Amino acid sequence: MTPNRRDFDVLIIGAGGAGLNAAVQLADAGHKVAVVSKVFPTRSHTVAAQGGVNAALGNVDSDHWHWHMFDTVKGSDYLGDQDAIEFMCREAIPTVYELEHKGVPFSRLESGRIYQRPFGGQSRHFGKEQASRTCAAADRTGHAILHTLYQQSLKARSHFFTEYFAIDLLQDGEGAVAGALVMDIATGEPLFIHARATLLATGGCGQVFRTTSNAHINTGDGMAMVLRAGLPLQDMEFFQFHPTGVAGRGMLITEGARGEGGYLVNSEGERFMERYAPHAKDLASRDVVARAIVTEVREGRGCGPEGDHVLLKVDHLGEKVVAERLPGIRETSKIFLGIDPAFEPIPVYPTAHYVMGGIPTDRFGRVVAPARHGPEEVVPGLYAAGECACVSVHGANRLGGNSLLDILVFGRLSGLDILEYLGENPHQRHVDSASEERAMERFRRFERPGDGVSVAALRAEFRKVMEDHAGVFRTEEIMSEGVEKVKALRERLDEVRLQDRSRVFNTARVEAFELENLVDVGMAIITSALARRESRGAHSRPDYPERDDRNWMRHSLYFLEGDQVDYKPVRTRPLTVESFPPKERVY
Ligand SMILES: Cc1cc2nc3c(=O)[nH]c(=O)nc-3n(C[C@H](O)[C@H](O)[C@H](O)COP(=O)(O)OP(=O)(O)OC[C@H]3O[C@@H](n4cnc5c(N)ncnc54)[C@H](O)[C@@H]3O)c2cc1C
Repeated sequence: MTPNRRDFDVLIIGAGGAGLNAAVQLADAGHKVAVVSKVFPTRSHTVAAQGGVNAALGNVDSDHWHWHMFDTVKGSDYLGDQDAIEFMCREAIPTVYELEHKGVPFSRLESGRIYQRPFGGQSRHFGKEQASRTCAAADRTGHAILHTLYQQSLKARSHFFTEYFAIDLLQDGEGAVAGALVMDIATGEPLFIHARATLLATGGCGQVFRTTSNAHINTGDGMAMVLRAGLPLQDMEFFQFHPTGVAGRGMLITEGARGEGGYLVNSEGERFMERYAPHAKDLASRDVVARAIVTEVREGRGCGPEGDHVLLKVDHLGEKVVAERLPGIRETSKIFLGIDPAFEPIPVYPTAHYVMGGIPTDRFGRVVAPARHGPEEVVPGLYAAGECACVSVHGANRLGGNSLLDILVFGRLSGLDILEYLGENPHQRHVDSASEERAMERFRRFERPGDGVSVAALRAEFRKVMEDHAGVFRTEEIMSEGVEKVKALRERLDEVRLQDRSRVFNTARVEAFELENLVDVGMAIITSALARRESRGAHSRPDYPERDDRNWMRHSLYFLEGDQVDYKPVRTRPLTVESFPPKERVY
């Protein structure tokens, strides 16, 4: 059976903030745009973003993009590329105003200007005082942004393939990307979508870990597709654990709770962050706060009968502030913990939250990749934006409020760059039949007779291995053991069976594909982490506790073939200002 085929100018895989902000630029310009999403677009994870988006608007206190840039470079532990960071911090201001004009209902100050709250790692005057830079729509900012962008995409007449699952990229004979194979989840039918340009905007991969703030759908599909196309993933060892997940469950309690004046206490009632970050305290960078919480618990100062979490207090702020500024986390606490944070503290513990690494791109969203050990080149026809991409603006640690910014700025920019690319490339590339066959082979990958292992059991085992062996603190021994376990699990994927197509729900097929993607991405994380012998940002190694700029100020590139890790230099030169030289990172 040869699948049906549809032709478009542009294929966008992913309908979160990154995908939709690109779609709007393209469809507005009259191009035929296909947007594929495995869930209804407004269920993309962007909808869950709570705290807000950073831009130096200076609505609450004076502010400047240069200070935002300083904070981002420092937050990245000097691994972020300074040209891309400068670009993002400058673009933040027009990007937020564009969103406002498209209809995002931001919270307001008395003056009528956009409300901005303080977030971790933000400063004025290059580290001197706390800034208030995060533009918020209460604690449901992502919801407001995603719904607005979806409405704008409908208005611009993008063609939505809703509940279609992308399986693999299609390439021409030279490795240029020319579309993808997708599956209609309702019918289970495969479909080739051919396009002159393809944008991956498939979001993060938090489901790699057992305890996570991420949605069930964040399985790193786009990243794994790139690996299978022979391209690398960059800086995958840097995974952010958000300090305040609901203890034992992982749902997020926004940093905005601390931004509004909340603070953490241990079992002795001590405000322990004063010891770890005397200056910024509870608003130190996320990696710093997450390590402090894990250390408090390990040293026996955890709360609750098991002593396995700490408490986040917002009850002193008063019911009015909690109701107006933090309604979402109040609801989460009531539903999942049965407590009202306006009156009681919230039990919290770090939760896997955000992948700093991803598909290597330049600041126009073009995927740049070296052939193994070769020079870096743009991969024709392939773009990536959003959490699946690594520009790199977050380096070794992302600041709160900078991801919504990243997806919006680089989603928009890739849309605009694709416009130019379409002008220069008026014809569809010829898709190599071998590439179509490979994609179809994967489509049928689990259709074999006999009893196999259960996807759910294998997934649970894998996520536990990742949590135990690639968590907040990592040593050589723990990670080496983890690599072996993941390799063994990867082999057991061959035992997954989906047997008779007529008897298996297509959602089960999707879950099998997702598990394979998770394992490939998990391997990228743990292999890159084992290779990096230093502590930097979110990557914390008690056996190599110092940052080592001489040997390790470079980006990692993991290739699936042979599980190899290569490196490339960090771009330390900004576009127009002086670079920020590496310094010790204290808050
Ligand atoms: C709970 C939570 C709160 C957050 N709060 C904030 C915050 O306040 N501020 C901030 O800056 N950042 C925040 N973040 C991070 C930020 O929200 C995300 O990094 C960002 O929204 C990711 O956007 P995206 O467009 O890259 O991907 P997503 O919004 O995750 O969208 C991915 C899209 O890809 C599609 N997709 C994936 N795989 C496939 C496939 N195989 N086939 C078809 N479609 C596919 C999905 O259907 C979806 O449409 C938060 C994250 C979480 C989890």
